[in-house]
Amino acid sequence: MVAVLVLAAFFAGGVYLWLNRTVNVSVNGSHLEVKIDSTLADIVEAADLETTPGDLVSITGDVLEEGKGAPFSAAVGGEELDADGIDSFRAKGNENITIGDGADLTESSHEEEREIKPKMEPYERVGAITFVAQWGKAGKGVYTVGDVSGDSVLKEETEPVQNLVIESVNPQPEDGSKVIALTFDDGPNANYTQKYLDILDKYGIKATFFCLGPAAEANPDLIKAIKDQGSQVASHTKTHGDPLSTLEPETLRSEITDAFASIEGAGGGATTVIRPPYGDFNNQTWLDSNGTLSASVIWNLDSEDWTLPGADAIVSNCTNGAYSGAIILMHDGGGNRDQDLEALPKIIENLQDKGYEFVTINELMAMDSRIPEDVASGNATMPEDCVWPTEMVEAE
Ligand SMILES: [Zn+2]
Repeated sequence: MVAVLVLAAFFAGGVYLWLNRTVNVSVNGSHLEVKIDSTLADIVEAADLETTPGDLVSITGDVLEEGKGAPFSAAVGGEELDADGIDSFRAKGNENITIGDGADLTESSHEEEREIKPKMEPYERVGAITFVAQWGKAGKGVYTVGDVSGDSVLKEETEPVQNLVIESVNPQPEDGSKVIALTFDDGPNANYTQKYLDILDKYGIKATFFCLGPAAEANPDLIKAIKDQGSQVASHTKTHGDPLSTLEPETLRSEITDAFASIEGAGGGATTVIRPPYGDFNNQTWLDSNGTLSASVIWNLDSEDWTLPGADAIVSNCTNGAYSGAIILMHDGGGNRDQDLEALPKIIENLQDKGYEFVTINELMAMDSRIPEDVASGNATMPEDCVWPTEMVEAE
């Protein structure tokens, strides 16, 4: 009986010693004796290693809390362990362990379906007409959202987003016709506009008048006369003050929309086509415009009439270098336009002799299929299911 008990106790003691035996490992090149099944945390402590912990970082990589990442990193037999590998490691003896500084820990996250806002695809100014080639439309996507930071990253697009696309072209008639567009800025003007219209009538041609909002309000008869003559009324904005690209977005938008309202109120019809004063309009101006216009029109041939160079110089400025699709800049307001009045019939005769037909800006836009039909109508507005972006696509 005693012998059995002694034997049992001896056996139990043997099992205990076996289960708690020590093994040899190598830690960062030094030998260390540790209890079998030691964890890596035990080993780091036993080896008295100083490691710098990683940080808690957001899903976009920003540091949220310093030192809240993994306390150390570990490689066993040259193989780096991930977090699970570090947790599940138990020493069995003869492992070659390398301990290093801790890795960053990425915050937990969840998935959410959200709207994807369109962006604006910028244009390069290669032509006289910049326009909305495609309106922006919101899409939908599954986002990964950081639980701590709230940052979001698009994981998958479930409904495609459609960016706003602005393009710039010099319109080219696709039917091969030879056309040119006369444009007059800064009116309507009580001294000149009707005289211009009489000349246009005499030659049976049409032009485009980029009118200032207050001048349109003051001269509704002239606005109607332009329409009746068959010419086009578009906007040259309200105050013709500082260049549009220098204005605060809110001021910019009222420069555009107030003038449209004045023109329509004066009987000029709905238009969303502008000529920006000084030809100044860029990508940021488009973005800031918030969809208040559909096309911005500058010119290819500058009469330089405002320098009062004499009628002959105005004629040659408008006709030398003329080509089909070109847009000619003149003025019917903003100063003494006697030289323009003298030059205008000569310009028309010169170009008619060369075989040109005169078209309005809307007609010119309609001749080039790169310009969408709604824009070529001259009064396109953003469709209801579309949104104007607040951000530009970053250049690569
Ligand atoms: Zn002007």
